[in-house]
Parts: sequence; C-alpha cells; structure tokens
Amino acid sequence: MVVYVCKQGDRRQKCTSSGVRPNQRSFKVGCPAKIRLVAVEENGICQLRVTTCHLYHSNHPVGPEIMKVFPEMRKPDSDNTLNKILALPSVSARDIQQYVQETQNKVLFNSDIHNLRRKVVKGLDVSETERIGQQLKTVEEEGGKFMFAINDTSELQYVAFITKTMLESITTYPEVLVLDVTYQTNVNNMT
Ligand SMILES: [Zn+2]
Repeated sequence: MVVYVCKQGDRRQKCTSSGVRPNQRSFKVGCPAKIRLVAVEENGICQLRVTTCHLYHSNHPVGPEIMKVFPEMRKPDSDNTLNKILALPSVSARDIQQYVQETQNKVLFNSDIHNLRRKVVKGLDVSETERIGQQLKTVEEEGGKFMFAINDTSELQYVAFITKTMLESITTYPEVLVLDVTYQTNVNNMT
C-alpha cells in the first residue's frame, strides 16, 4: 500500500515532553488531501488500485510561492560566492537574501541566514585552527621547534616557530641579526 498525503496534512502530535523545543513551528494544518494506492491481484495480474482520492487541499494556500517557503526548499545550493559573503559581517542579511533569490530563485528567512552564517564561520574557525596546528606539527617533524602561550581566558598570546633551516642558519651565523615583520596582512585579527 502506498499513501501520498499533503505535506500540510496531519496536525503535529501533541508534545508530551517538558518543552525542550518550545518554539517549533509546523506546517501541519490537517489538510485532508490524500491518494491511497493498494496493490491487488485480480485474475492473476497484480494491479495498483486507487482506494482513496481526495484531491482538494484545505486550510492552506497552494502554489509555487508557498512551496518556496518549505524548509527543504530554502536550502541554498553550495556556492563559493555565497560562502564568502556569509562570512563577511559587513554584508547584510537582506543582501544575502537578494543574492540567493537572484541566483537560485530561493527564498531565505532571516533565521536561515543566521544558521548558515553560524555554520560558515564555525567551519572557518575549525579549518584555520587545524591548519595552524598541522603547520606547526610539520615544522617540528622536520627538525624545527615551536612554542606558544595562552592567557587565563585561553586566548592565544603568541606563536613562535623556527624551522630546521632557520635553526641551522642561526647556529652557523650567530652574529647575523635578521628582523622580519608583517604589516597590514593580518586578516585573522590576531594581535
Ligand atoms: Zn494540502
């Protein structure tokens, strides 16, 4: 038996828990639209028979515009430009909404953008930290050294490293002093 029901069919079951997720909204409005098919054998032939056919929707509007606001329709496709602007706090939610609307014809809510932003920023942080850690590990494996310090609130104070080649140079020419600084290249706001 196969039953096709309207997405806005059954009402959401009453929540019996202590209300851990109290603000869940639901599209379920008890719309009765439904088609039920049953497999039956007649004269040795298997057939699908329609046993229920209720084609009319009630309690909600129908149409392509309504479909766009369903959660699964509001997931934007992966897009490098989108990921970049999501990571920029200076780009407003409205601009992001407009961009997705124009490029993918999808409607995003403010809450969608908030969630997408959180994911993108979290992803950046993890990969950035991992990359730095990996780099320092490589330096050490190749015969160099590194050290770092964190303060009481676990903020990174500094990272210092010396590669094997640098170590060899400084051992061979201890009288040479090299000063190297970075200037206005700090995209990660490290101080
Ligand atoms: Zn319906």
